[in-house]
Order: sequence, then C-alpha cells, then structure tokens
Amino acid sequence: MPGTNLTREEARTRAALLAVDAYEIELDLSSAREGGTFRSTTVVRFTATEPGSSTFIDLVAPAVSEIVLNGRALPPESFTDSRIELPDLAAENELRVVADCAYTNTGEGLHRFVDPADGETYLYTQFEVPDARRVFASFEQPDLKATFAFTVTAPAGWVVVSNSPTPEPTGDGGTRVWTFEPTPRMSTYITALVAGPYVGVFDSYDNGSQHVPLGVYCRPSLREHLDADAVFAVTKQGFDYFQEKFDFAYPFAKYDQLFVPEFNAGAMENAGAVTLRDQYVFRSKVTDAAYEMRAATVLHELAHMWFGDLVTMEWWNDLWLNESFATFAEVVCQAEAPGSKWPHSWTTFANQMKTWAYRQDQLPSTHPIMAEINDLEDVQVNFDGITYAKGASVLKQLVAYVGQDAFFQGVRAYFKRHAWGNTRLADLLGALEEASGRDLKTWSKAWLETAGINVLRPELSVAADGTIESFAVLQEAPALPAGARGEAVLRPHRIAVGLYELVDGTLVRTDRIELDVDGERTEVPQLAGRKRPAVLLLNDDDLSYAKVRLDADSLAVVTEHLGDFTDSLPRALCWASAWDMTRDGELATRDYLSLALSGLPRESDIGVVQSVQRQVKLALELYADPAWRETGLQRWAAAAEDALRAAPAGSDHQLAWARTLAGAARTDGQLALLAGLLDGSVGIDGLAVDTELRWTLLARLVATGRADEAAIDAELARDNTSSGQEHAATCRAARPTAAAKAEAWASVVDSDTLTNYVQEAVIAGFQQADQRELLAAYTEKYFASVKQVWETRSHEISQQIIGGLYPSYAVSQATLDATDAWLAAADPAPALRRQVVEARAGVERALKAQAADR
Ligand SMILES: [Zn+2]
Repeated sequence: MPGTNLTREEARTRAALLAVDAYEIELDLSSAREGGTFRSTTVVRFTATEPGSSTFIDLVAPAVSEIVLNGRALPPESFTDSRIELPDLAAENELRVVADCAYTNTGEGLHRFVDPADGETYLYTQFEVPDARRVFASFEQPDLKATFAFTVTAPAGWVVVSNSPTPEPTGDGGTRVWTFEPTPRMSTYITALVAGPYVGVFDSYDNGSQHVPLGVYCRPSLREHLDADAVFAVTKQGFDYFQEKFDFAYPFAKYDQLFVPEFNAGAMENAGAVTLRDQYVFRSKVTDAAYEMRAATVLHELAHMWFGDLVTMEWWNDLWLNESFATFAEVVCQAEAPGSKWPHSWTTFANQMKTWAYRQDQLPSTHPIMAEINDLEDVQVNFDGITYAKGASVLKQLVAYVGQDAFFQGVRAYFKRHAWGNTRLADLLGALEEASGRDLKTWSKAWLETAGINVLRPELSVAADGTIESFAVLQEAPALPAGARGEAVLRPHRIAVGLYELVDGTLVRTDRIELDVDGERTEVPQLAGRKRPAVLLLNDDDLSYAKVRLDADSLAVVTEHLGDFTDSLPRALCWASAWDMTRDGELATRDYLSLALSGLPRESDIGVVQSVQRQVKLALELYADPAWRETGLQRWAAAAEDALRAAPAGSDHQLAWARTLAGAARTDGQLALLAGLLDGSVGIDGLAVDTELRWTLLARLVATGRADEAAIDAELARDNTSSGQEHAATCRAARPTAAAKAEAWASVVDSDTLTNYVQEAVIAGFQQADQRELLAAYTEKYFASVKQVWETRSHEISQQIIGGLYPSYAVSQATLDATDAWLAAADPAPALRRQVVEARAGVERALKAQAADR
C-alpha cells in the first residue's frame, strides 16, 4: 500500500520536531454488527520546536471528513497516501481528525469476527507494528509517547476493555458510551481496545499495600473450557517474581488478559490489556507442553509491562532486545519462581528457542542481532528467529557472562532511570557494565553486530590407560550462507563442560567445569590427568549459543544411550545436536530415524518428544532419499502405532503418538484404525477421541481419499465453531483431487475475502507431502502471482501466502532454477525477496540432505 511505509529518518526528524502531549479518541462502534467502517474522531495536542515548520500524522482510512489544525480546516487533499500533511505548525498545536476507518479480517488494526457458535460480533485491536493508524490518526512511532483517552460507543450489553480500567457505561437505547480515564504516557503500538459480548472472570493480585485487579476474558462459546484459575496462578507467580527482581511496582492500574479470536501472534503486550490467541483456551485434551507454553506466554507478556511498555525502545532496531528480554524473563521465572510447575524450562528453551535460532541463523537472510531497520517493512519481516530466539540465547549468554545477580542489579537501575521513557541498547549495556564491572563493548560487538553460529569441537588426547592427556575446545567461525550480511567471527563464550558416566544403565553427571572460551583454541587444563568419562558434553547447561560436536567415543555412547541421561537438559542438547547434524547432511535421515526410534521410548519430556516427532516427519518428507522415503515413512508409521498402543492409558505420550499416527498412517490397516477411532468402532484404552483429535483423524482420511466431502460436512455439523470451520477448510483443501487443489488455490490467491485464520487453514490443507504430483502444476502459478499478492495484500496475509504456498515439497533443481529466474526477472522489494529466498533455502538444504541420505 503506498505511503504506509515510514523510514527511520522520517521518524527521527519527526521526533526531533514534536513532543506529543495527549490524544482524545472517540470511536463509534455501533456499526460493529454490520461491519464496513466506523467513525473515528481524534483530537491530539502536541508541541513543535520550530513554529512554521510542517510534519505529518499517520492514518489508514477509507475516508476522512474533517481535518482541523489549530482551528483552521485543512483541505481534504492533505490526506493522501495514508498520511495527513500538517503545514505551518504553531508552538502548541491542536489537531482534530474525523475519519471513517475500516474493520479488518486480517488481524491487523481493528479485527472484526463473527462467532458461528452464537452469531455475535467480537472486536479487538492489534497495533504492533504500525496499525494504530488504522483506528485513529496517530504519530505512529514508539518514541512519540503520549496519554490516550478513549471514548467508545458500542452496543448495549457489550464488554469494552482498554488500557485504563473499564468505566460504567452511560446512555440508553441500543448503545452505551464508555469514557475511559487517560492512560499514562505510552507508545501508540501498545494501546488497545477489545469489545464485544465477551465474558470475564476476575481476581486480584494483593501484596500488602498493593492491590492490582486481574481479569481474564474469552468468548462465551469458549467459557466452559476456560481454566482461569490456572492463568491467574501463573500471573501471580510472575507478579511476585518480576516485582522482586525488577524492584519496581507493576506500573499500570489493572491487568486484564483477553483470549481473542483469529489472533496472528501468540499474544500482545498492550499495557494492562494483554491479548492472547484463543487456542490457548484448550477445548480438547492437550499435552503438558501446551500448558507450559501458555504459561510462558503469560509471563512473557507480563515481563513486557516493564520492559517494552514502561521503558520502550526508541526505534524498531531494538525490537530484538525487547523480545529477548521478555523471553529470557519468562524462562528464568519458570525455572526459579517458587511453586513453578515447569522448573525444567531451560530444557524447553534449548529444545524450542535454540532450535529455532540455529535454523534461522543459517538462512541466507540471516543478519546480526542488531539489524539495520531502515523502515517499517524491515521490521515487519524481522519478527524472526534472530530477533526472538537468538537474541534470547545471547541474552542468556550475557547473563552467564556478567552473573545473574549483577544482571538484575543493572536491570533495576535501568528501570528506575528510564521509567516512562525511551531507550537504546547502550542504556541497558551501560547499566550492566556499572553493575558488573565488566566491559561489554567487545562482547556486544562480537555477539550483536555479527551473524552466524560458531562451532565448538573438543580436541582430546587420551592415553592407552584411559587417562586424559590434554583437552581443548576448538572454535570455528560461522559458515555464513552466501549473500548473508555481517562478518564471520570468533566470539567469547562462557560455557560449561559436563562429565558423564554410565551408572546402572543411566548417564549421570559426575563433574562440571565452567570456563571462558576465547579464540580458536582454549586449553582446559583441569581435565588433564583425569580418567576419560563416558561422555564429555560441551556447552552443558546450554549457557552459550553454538553448534556443538561430540568426540567419537562420546557420540557412540550418546547414540546408544540418549534416553539414559537422568537430566532432561543434556538429553535435549543431544537431540538438538543430532537434528542439527541431520539438517546439515552430516547424519543421514535414515540414521536420524533409527536414533529417534531407539531414544524416544525413553524420553520423558513431552515437549522434547513432540519436537522430535515433528522433526522426524519433516526429515522423512524432505530430507530422505526419495528412493528410500516410502520405506522410512512406513517404518515411522508402524513405530507410531506401536508406541500409541504401548503408551500408558490417558498419558500425554499416548495423545502425542495418536496425533503422530494420524499424520503418518499409510497402510490399509493404519488408515482403518484411524477410521475406527473416528467412528467409535475401535477404542484404545485411555485415549479420548475428542473434538480436536477427531479433526486430526479426519484430515488424514480425507487427504488419503478415505473420507469425502459429506464426512467433512458431518464433522462440521458436530462442531460448528470457528475452529470447526477452519478444520473443515483444511480438510477440503487436503482432498486428493485436482479440482480440490484448484478451488483451494483460487480461494487464497485469486480472491481476498478469507480471514487470516481460514486462509492459513486452507494453505495447511493444500500443502500435502503425499500429493506431490497434484501440486506440481502450482510452481509456475506461484511465481506468476506472488508479486501481485505482495503488492495488494496486507502484511500478515501476504506473508502467509508467500511462505505457505512456495513449492517446498518440490525438492528439485528445477524449483531452485524457477526461483532464481523469478528473482532475476521480478526485481522484488527487499521484504518480498527475503521471504522467497528463505523458502528457496529450504529446498536447497533438502537437496543436500537427500544426497547425504543416498
Ligand atoms: Zn514479546
């Protein structure tokens, strides 16, 4: 969309010129049930350092009916390209803008959703990065903080929640008016509004003199599934832990958490009014890993109330620090808070965040953590594994480097110094240097301004009697992919080396040595003269961010005994290492499968089990030699059925294997088992075939041609909810016919009416690894349409299509060639190019891995 971008330079100029005092925003949502547009009236007061100068305010709206600056009406044409030009500023200014803004169905701006379960309309806002301007005229950049006073007209009987506490509505007839108190000074992107016949559950956080009202909301159709007590419990743990560690009282008047429909991200840290995706209200049985992830999300958003909302980055180049801090805080709180249900959170971090970071850091698009963010398009594609996962990994390394006590001491000084203001990275590093006495400039340059992953290898010399003669850690510079930005460097690493012995069939840690690794070779004299242990594990406790390799003897023990580590973290590190080697073509897919089949039965951590299950599926579908692929898939499906039947009744493992089998089933017998579970003619003790599992079973039966459209309709009749409609869309797109594929394609590419969630569901069904022949025709269609998709759709919608419909299953040189031809001819914008190049890298990697599996 023209004019919707904003460059850093423009933002800098505007921030130098303006100070924004206050917004008064009136939104008339009485049209919400019909949709279309709503009336938005903004009055904003601001000062300018240079009277007579000009600036602009941002607004994305179908129509503007009134623009009045300092009592003078401006012509309608001052609104163009999503901006309103503001000429001839005074020292003190008042601007009034009346516009008709549009409800969206993409999860950006003011999202409007109609629940098929009750026919009611539900609204919520999502503003990060630049979408407050879709709801009111705003100076849309994080360092122009102001107060916000919302006045909302909405249907009587609705619930309306914003950053400030909800007032009693006034008025009569069909609508009511909610007049909210002004917020504290904050950035536009964390303001929020949630409105509709939502239902709330209430509690409070009380701590001596402190009383914070707490609310948890969802749609009525989900109320029976809402376990608000569990959400409150982890929220209160977070309040206790963060207030103590940060030494700063929660800065807002109340804390509401709202589960909202069709939410693009996991959650959003709107000040005092956090929104979360409502799949976190579990309507069917999920494993403990899902509860753990929800709790982590709750804590992540709560940590943002201080880091992000109270103290805010000046510009989006520090987004990584915002996200990394919240992620580190969420994990350390789970690991340490008294009464935490997930004290093994660093295992989950290693298993998920680290894996994500390592994957992203090996893409051609990888970049230093401190990325160049020149404009909004840059930041929108930068919500990636570097920003969230590598940043958090490096922050964990920083904490190990300065010590956790010094780290929190620095953080406390930082919050006190910068409360309600904006900062840069240097402000935090300065506070940490003061607290720790360590110079962080070298550290910061090596870790934040360069890209890629170092490899750490052991160099070991052992005498004939098993005594270690010498041990050193060798460090390699990152192998940066062609075209990647940044220079390949060695870095300072704080790591631990773990020594493990086999004791009664288990691998037990007998010692641990912590040291600084610097340069190419770091001698570890503490190990010389000692007996060689069964396993020497570099980066034990996962302190640093590096690929780690095992010496040959340790690798042999780990391959046989991966499931026998008594602690979950070293197991997770070894699983991650094996997966990394598979992706790199250093371990054949068939050997990775064998390792998984021997190790999974003894893996107790359900989150790790589910990750390995996903990775095996991906490896078999993409990395296996095509000539052997069917053999591998059959072996995996048979193992899944065995594991399902062997798992304890009602256990998480049983559910995880049921889902895995549902995705993997291929023989007549396996597919008949799925059908039997679905129609109830077959039962497995303890396995609840509930709503979500029913859809998972049906999707596979449909994709293999064993269930038809009537079966989809019947299932939808049983579950006519928004989730049911999404599952039905997936199933329809998964049917193994050319007509079904054409229909799915047209609904996504040729039409733009699908909501963000339904579109995502269609894409998921369209892409089937077992339907390569049906999908072959779409490589050409993809390249014929992708540029237009990017130019005409919103950011979220186009991102789903560009990544989701890329011919990822067409693992061939022809796909690479087609991609390269398109890249050369289409001259795509950087953000579009990046997404296509990332998708291409997946095919390139798969080709290499297939060769290694041959
Ligand atoms: Zn976050």
